Amino acid sequence: MPQFDHERLFLPGPVEVRREILEAQTQWMIGHRTSEFADLFARLQDKLKRAFFTDSRVYVSGSSGSGLWEGAVRCGVRDGARALHLTGGAFSERWAEISRANGKVVDCIQVDWGRAHTPGMVADALAKQRYDAVCAVHNETSTGVTNPIQAIGEVVAQHEDTLFFVDTVSGFLGTELRVDDWGIDIALTSSQKAFALPPGVAFAAVSDRLLERAASIPNRGYYFDFLTLEKSLLKNNTPSTPPIALMYAADMQMDAILAEGLEARWARHRAMRDATHEWALARGFGLYAQAGYRSDTVTTVANSRGIDVNAMSAFMAREAGFAMDKGYGAIKGETFRLPHMGDVTMDMLREVLGGIDAFLARQ
Ligand SMILES: *Cc1c(COP(=O)(O)O)cnc(C)c1O
Repeated sequence: MPQFDHERLFLPGPVEVRREILEAQTQWMIGHRTSEFADLFARLQDKLKRAFFTDSRVYVSGSSGSGLWEGAVRCGVRDGARALHLTGGAFSERWAEISRANGKVVDCIQVDWGRAHTPGMVADALAKQRYDAVCAVHNETSTGVTNPIQAIGEVVAQHEDTLFFVDTVSGFLGTELRVDDWGIDIALTSSQKAFALPPGVAFAAVSDRLLERAASIPNRGYYFDFLTLEKSLLKNNTPSTPPIALMYAADMQMDAILAEGLEARWARHRAMRDATHEWALARGFGLYAQAGYRSDTVTTVANSRGIDVNAMSAFMAREAGFAMDKGYGAIKGETFRLPHMGDVTMDMLREVLGGIDAFLARQ
């Protein structure tokens, strides 16, 4: 039986993290009310703003991305107003659920899983009803659909008082996103997807407009309140103890990402997507997501050959040293996902696909 020094993660989060990045976390701790920490915060802030293509600000949250879902709706949707959620997959549906759990009035544009939202759908909904915010998922990780965020942003921008909230948890740093140009009021993300960091820290680029809205809303909570985060950010700090080890890792990873180049990183993801599609179709599998909207960071394979996904995953762990996805939620088994995000290289992708070929050859 082959030996591997560890099981490599080929999951759509958490993803495989390079050893150098893991080791960046082992630097000695510093107090967060020190000038050393302010330097770290400011350094990282500058790099994050470049990565989000924003001139405003990027909050660093000691949480996973889901916390910022709460922050967005609590700070951006007023009592008696409504939020419009674009739903059609596990994550977009959970965000709508979280808005309701925070007492917000939610309407959804529900599409079938595997389908994208179009600007026309959003224009129709906004013509019929006033909304405080439109909440969209950039890259729906369960179905492998990327929504046309730029075009939807143009529609939302025609409604002066409607903010545009975007979950780019599995899109950010793997596929194009331009916060200021696309009229996005919050773009929120997690560390453990295409950012290729360990889990436990989340980031949000937030507009001035959203901060102005927040100032008109009482009871925004505290931990995910953007006005509280803003007060600290102006001092290069955080309101409560930050995840310092993860910030060391993020600082180093941002250097590597900016050295690769953001556009080059997107292009690498696109090339891996194309190779994955070609592989899947050549072996008689389907592609679950609607053509034209297939994600650059994760391919959801339609298991049209009816392979035993559990057996495939067990084979891959044993023979190839990879932890594999088995599909998500309602479409588990009927699909499985091939993530090509983060620091995955074409060579590693080829190794994974070759491993699945070896499994298929034994069927
Ligand atoms: C993983 C994921 C989330 C949840 O993020 P956490 O960091 O686990 O809270 C939300 N949205 C999308 C699109 C995701 O892929």
